[in-house]
Amino acid sequence: MPFVKGFSEKITRELRKEGITVVFGKGKTLESSLCKLKQKIPKDQTKNNIYLKRSTSCNFKYIGESGQTLKQRDIGHKSDINTKKSRSGLYKHIRDNEGHKIDFQNQKILDREPNMFKGK
Ligand SMILES: [Zn+2]
Repeated sequence: MPFVKGFSEKITRELRKEGITVVFGKGKTLESSLCKLKQKIPKDQTKNNIYLKRSTSCNFKYIGESGQTLKQRDIGHKSDINTKKSRSGLYKHIRDNEGHKIDFQNQKILDREPNMFKGK
């Protein structure tokens, strides 16, 4: 049975938290098993995303890309906002539009490109 120690254990554990049981089938590669499971991995735990965030109060859209998981990237965004970093597009929007918030809960992944960050 193909099994990458550590890696698949971690994924199995993450998926189990979501109530999904993972069985790595006989004769299948880990990759093909993961391919089928791709949809089930929580979206904030996937890496190399192009993501879209919105304002809760208007049509403001922010498209970003990150080699980190969305969760990790959000920590960065939130810290930029808290420390009022003017290079942060998200902070600028909140600063210039009173009462607006960035909707971190309902962001959208536009694309996922595993090779996008290679060589950078
Ligand atoms: Zn807004």
